[in-house]
Amino acid sequence: MERVHNFNAGPAALPLPVLEQARDEMLNYRGSGMSVMELSHRSAHFEGIIRQAEADLRSLLGIPDHYSVLFLQGGASLQFAMLARNFIPSEGSADYILTGAWAKAAVREAEKRGRVRVIGAADALERDNFNHVPSPAELDLDPKAGYLHFTSNETIHGVEWAADAEPEPPAGVPLICDASSNIASRPLHAAKYAMIYAGAQKNLGPAGVTLVVLRNDLLERVPSRLPVVLDYKAMAENKSLYNTPPCFSIYMVGLVLKWVKDIGGLEEVARRNATKATKVYKAIDDSGGFYRGHARPDSRSRMNVTFRLPSEDLEKKFARESDAQGLVGLKGHRSVGGLRASLYNALPMESVEVLVQFMGEFLRKNG
Ligand code: PMP
Repeated sequence: MERVHNFNAGPAALPLPVLEQARDEMLNYRGSGMSVMELSHRSAHFEGIIRQAEADLRSLLGIPDHYSVLFLQGGASLQFAMLARNFIPSEGSADYILTGAWAKAAVREAEKRGRVRVIGAADALERDNFNHVPSPAELDLDPKAGYLHFTSNETIHGVEWAADAEPEPPAGVPLICDASSNIASRPLHAAKYAMIYAGAQKNLGPAGVTLVVLRNDLLERVPSRLPVVLDYKAMAENKSLYNTPPCFSIYMVGLVLKWVKDIGGLEEVARRNATKATKVYKAIDDSGGFYRGHARPDSRSRMNVTFRLPSEDLEKKFARESDAQGLVGLKGHRSVGGLRASLYNALPMESVEVLVQFMGEFLRKNG
């Protein structure tokens, strides 16, 4: 059976060796006589799976010992609500940097719980349909904020903070990052965040598990009487096993992390991601204006390349013809329009080469 070139925005491509290993272990996981889906979450086998996944994540992302690593459910969308319930101070507020659709969703949920200050030239950015991230000078940071929240990669708009230009909070203000769509795509300086969270379904594995990395001193702020599944302290004290975790998704994340280690770790992943993104942006920039990137060059995402064509008819034709040639998932999100190529870790270089070739041919025929 042919596998397609998978440019889906998430759930997205998984590494072939990971899928093959999951297939091989499907009916009898390491002599247990059952699949991972049939194991007790209290069994030694599953304990081995979740602790190995945590250990690999800690070593890959360089997560210090005074951080908790949680495997939760509810997606990044639940984190929008949960982190606000845990960390917006009852007398104060939290700062949110508005960079696109996902930051906006985070703000909407936080506002249901407490006071939120939206910072960073939000009106101007919205007028430009979120085609760049704000500069440090545009951030009117509150030194007393309960925390500063930002979105390291905007999946829909295709805008990403450069690794060395992510926002810096005032001293003592915890930095919280939604890294759903670029986690583990480059080396991470984990200690600069108080909390980092990500749905797994782009770079880490299948949908169903959400990774939360949290500095332990934040747990002291968790208010009492939260529903237990919304309480980071309860989840951390029980090492993600207060209730039944998404066992199979965690197992898959473990296999993906092992694959990342096998191919050379995050430096190698970052090198490949930079090469892949450069190839697609070059096809855009060399097209004489036929393809137009949505993001400003200084804010271009390495994960989600968003671009327009001269007309909506041509965009529809591009999506239709690419799909027919086995390039799947290129239709853009309706709020930006046009096309979007998601180039997550597991997307092979070959898929990018096929896409670039298709873009060249499409330009020749329609330009
Ligand atoms: N944040 C970002 C940056 C996302 O890309 C997404 C999903 N595409 C979400 C949050 C929401 O994640 P979920 O669907 O897992 O709730």
